[in-house]
Amino acid sequence: MMSEGHVMEIFQAIQGEGPWVGISQIFFRLFRCNLRCSWCDTPESFELTGKGKVEHPPGSRSFVEFENPISPSRAMELLEPFLKTPHHSLSFTGGEPLMQKDFLLELFPLLKSKNEKIFLETGGTTPQLLEPLLPYIDYISMDIKLPSSTKERPYWKEHEEFLRLAITKDAYVKIVLTKETSSDELQMGLQLIKRLRENIPVILQPVTPIGSDQPPNETQMLKLLTQSLEILPQVRVVPQVHKLIGQK
Ligand code: SF4
Repeated sequence: MMSEGHVMEIFQAIQGEGPWVGISQIFFRLFRCNLRCSWCDTPESFELTGKGKVEHPPGSRSFVEFENPISPSRAMELLEPFLKTPHHSLSFTGGEPLMQKDFLLELFPLLKSKNEKIFLETGGTTPQLLEPLLPYIDYISMDIKLPSSTKERPYWKEHEEFLRLAITKDAYVKIVLTKETSSDELQMGLQLIKRLRENIPVILQPVTPIGSDQPPNETQMLKLLTQSLEILPQVRVVPQVHKLIGQK
């Protein structure tokens, strides 16, 4: 049976996070998320609204609405003008894109048949949903969510299982830090990564100020980085660069 997807928006943009900062991507943002991070910058993705929007033409920031849900072949039609533009990969983001695993399981093979590269941005808490999609995915940006900054419950076990699968691909881990981030929790996260492999790139991302969530100050940040480098060699601090260039 064909699975339909609830797609929030499709647009062209510059990747603003992590080791791939600066590349041109086609963003495919899906509705739904299993988490509620306190600093979430896309809460509109939580509830299905029935409508999605696609940038037309690509890169114009002018959007046309479409009705959800859509079939995988309709998604390919909407993507067609984007696929003609130069781009590094398609970034599947959300929300939590894995919440629509069945839809992606049908869409990804269509994209791979056109030699497209698939980049997954995920909260990293649902390994059972990642596993069947792995053969189609090229890059994974996986979060480790620290409860002291998300105000969510810990996901240590889920993150470990997820990372074990993710590192079969070109993967890195992103950890968002706030003023309230506990250095003990950060060390637990890094030890979890170290148990799997030492050379996994890790990005510490100071939160972009939102509501009462503020980034660590300069000395806090340096201290967290120094402590991290005592555990793992490939840790870097990279803020959300797309916000600095006025991109949402
Ligand atoms: S996982 Fe991402 S989309 Fe979901 S609540 Fe957290 S920041 Fe928001």
